[in-house]
Amino acid sequence: MKILVLNAGSSSQKSCLYEIKGEALLEEPSQPLWEAKLDWTHHPGKAEIEVKTSAGKKLQEEISVTSRLQIIAHMLDTLCQGPTKVISQLSEIDGVGHRVVHGGKDYRESVVINADVKDAITRLANLAPAHNPVNLEGIQAIEQHLGNVRQVAVFDTAFHADIPDAAAIYPGPYEWVKHDIRRYGFHGISHQYCAHRAAHLLNQDLASLRLITCHLGNGCSLAAIKNSRSIETTMGFTPLDGLMMGSRSGSVDPGILIYLLRQFGYSPDQLDNELNKFSGLRGISGISNDMRQIKEAIAQGNSRAQLARDIYIHRLRYYIGAMLASLEGLDVLVFTAGVGENDPDTRAAACEVFGFLGLQLDLEKNKQKPIDIDVATPTSTVRVLVIHTEEDWAIAQECWQLLKQ
Ligand code: ADP
Repeated sequence: MKILVLNAGSSSQKSCLYEIKGEALLEEPSQPLWEAKLDWTHHPGKAEIEVKTSAGKKLQEEISVTSRLQIIAHMLDTLCQGPTKVISQLSEIDGVGHRVVHGGKDYRESVVINADVKDAITRLANLAPAHNPVNLEGIQAIEQHLGNVRQVAVFDTAFHADIPDAAAIYPGPYEWVKHDIRRYGFHGISHQYCAHRAAHLLNQDLASLRLITCHLGNGCSLAAIKNSRSIETTMGFTPLDGLMMGSRSGSVDPGILIYLLRQFGYSPDQLDNELNKFSGLRGISGISNDMRQIKEAIAQGNSRAQLARDIYIHRLRYYIGAMLASLEGLDVLVFTAGVGENDPDTRAAACEVFGFLGLQLDLEKNKQKPIDIDVATPTSTVRVLVIHTEEDWAIAQECWQLLKQ
């Protein structure tokens, strides 16, 4: 079965084509035949496209863009034309899986897309304005170019759907609950994949483990996982809650927002912009949202960069502590995504304060670019794994599960 995956960001688009022969196990990712990355953040009206295939063919170009539909059409052409051709025609694709950021309360697992699902994704755009509309555009682009191919929505919120009310409901007035204001959680596809992969690498039954998965990319979130499901997570009603991130603040006292509205006459858009784009590592350092640049600035003695990193680490430890309380213990700590996979210093700083649990990091192993490896010492009471997240594979696998029936 050939499955195309569309993973859309607000100004980027990642896509992969997988060929699944026989069984597809979530915990055993396979390599895509073809993968494409599109990014239109650098030059206005232009998109950079980078395509590579499992046979080692590559394509890199800059194209003019007017719409996402047009850009997806261009990307689909590279599947069956030119140096990165891997199929003869688009009709060879058996199914298309989409990462959909918000599934709300109703979508607790992946579904085959029909008119009701599209309506729900549209309705939920209120809750995820930067993401759900672009997910819908991806679905429409596929309808335009691949006709009646079966499409599957894989929700980033679904893995968190069983979080108990005591952890999910915000202690505001009860009307909030009626307006569906609650903790939904995000990055679920990544947290779920990492939990399954960790259990597989450790040769253990996932249901018997208590895990904390730390997804530390541009966006950052933690999940506490027990009985194979998320029981607590740091992102909330929106992806703005919880940890400090690249350019997002994470949790702040809501009284600050009231103060800004009253004293400085902020508009909702101004608040949105500052909290989402000019906060976090970027806001505090004044340098960058990228941890590599923060570390370079620290090495040159920049005190704001140092403060930004100190807050980041403090909040990471703080929320790991919160997840520990929900789990009532810990068997496995997982680090994933850009910072989690590539920054040994962040992992070491996070682990350092949990020595009292008997958690011991093997500092040498931790430094040697470990991927899908246990970096705890043999005597550590907690296994510590660095896992390369495979969201696209996880989407393909969900899609295969639904379409094989
Ligand atoms: P996204 O959330 O956009 O998918 P990624 O998971 O790719 O992001 O993470 C991107 C971030 O990873 C970058 O902004 C950068 O801060 C961080 N990163 C990547 N490589 C390293 C590294 N070697 N050391 C520290 N941070 C890194």
